[in-house]
Amino acid sequence: MSYTTPEQRLEMFRQAFPKLEEGALRTLAETAEERFYTAGQNLCQQGELGTELYVLVAGEVAIYVRTDEHNEVLVNTGVPISYFGEMALLVENTPRSATIRALADSHVLTVERETFLAVADRNPVLLRRLASQLTDHLRNNDRAVINELRQKNNAVEEAYRDLATQEKMRREFVTTLSHELRTPLTSIQGYLQLMHKGVIRGDSLPVALDSITRNVEKMVAMTNNMLVLYEMQLSSPEFGELDLVDVVVEAVRRVQSTPDYAQAEISAVISPTLPRLHGDKNGLVLALHALLENAAKFSPAHTPVELRAQMGEDGGVWLDVVDKGVGIPTAEQEKIFEPFYRLEHVQKGGSTLFAGIGIGLSIAKFIVERHGGRIVLTSTPGKGSTFSIRLPK
Ligand code: ADP
Repeated sequence: MSYTTPEQRLEMFRQAFPKLEEGALRTLAETAEERFYTAGQNLCQQGELGTELYVLVAGEVAIYVRTDEHNEVLVNTGVPISYFGEMALLVENTPRSATIRALADSHVLTVERETFLAVADRNPVLLRRLASQLTDHLRNNDRAVINELRQKNNAVEEAYRDLATQEKMRREFVTTLSHELRTPLTSIQGYLQLMHKGVIRGDSLPVALDSITRNVEKMVAMTNNMLVLYEMQLSSPEFGELDLVDVVVEAVRRVQSTPDYAQAEISAVISPTLPRLHGDKNGLVLALHALLENAAKFSPAHTPVELRAQMGEDGGVWLDVVDKGVGIPTAEQEKIFEPFYRLEHVQKGGSTLFAGIGIGLSIAKFIVERHGGRIVLTSTPGKGSTFSIRLPK
């Protein structure tokens, strides 16, 4: 059954092959078959033998070339009135070099090889046009495939670079961790040996026990932080209504109950218009605690640290932790939020200036982002830093 009249078909071939003589057009129109494809259906498949040329009457098709078992690349699209599938006509017994797929419901006219060649033999212009289109198609295919390969190559190179960076970070982490563990352990071991031998006794005993306790606490805190980083990625937080004043109070209390930072001079300015928030209280305490502890750690002793809690421009909450400490070079400001990334603050003699294993900020970032917020950092080396937790309304 025919959906187009012979005249309509003739007109379509006239548009598809301008300048072709009338008799030839008539032959094509008379012998052409009509086919209909629904969106997603293949007109022909790469690798299969084909003997037809397609002229698209209505709809839209796409031409794909398979690059491997699982991937195909889009190399061209066809709209009315374009034609394709010419390779099967020009070269006998050749498999399709691409898959043609209907993108929308499509209506095509097909011409068989035999008919077409008979017409083409009498019309060299047609053969020349077809050969030229074939060359364009092949060039297009090559370009698309090469492009695809180049992108894959870039992705592989990037993956290698990532691996190398991760490997470097892993090595640095092991070095940092062993240093951070060895220092307190060596100290504990020393005190225990001296106690064992009876060298430390009487009034010296509480001092030794105090030092041992501090060192154990440090290791426990470090281990807890590592576990938090690991576990929080597996668990979902408990969100609820919360008052940020409670978060601030708890975070400050925790910093000041850590012996190393007990003397930290933290002042908190809390705006009376602070909105209530829907969030994960424990998580936010952890995040704020990490920022406050860093502010105290990376500042000289007795340098004040300021905490400002206020309503943000968007009606959310801003928690700014301002220090006048060592500051962070611009080039490092993004990287310090990555797990285990630390700046080398190495002293003469090789010991590191500040303790830590580089996960406080990653924990803080993870938690804040889980609230739909972000941490904004402004810092000047030698002058100080401001870490601002910005939580949306
Ligand atoms: P840690 O403090 O355990 O090293 P963090 O993830 O908390 O790990 O911080 C990563 C790095 O970012 C720190 O090692 C430090 O170099 C830098 N940093 C973080 N906070 C500050 C700050 N307030 N001032 C200066 N440097 C900081």
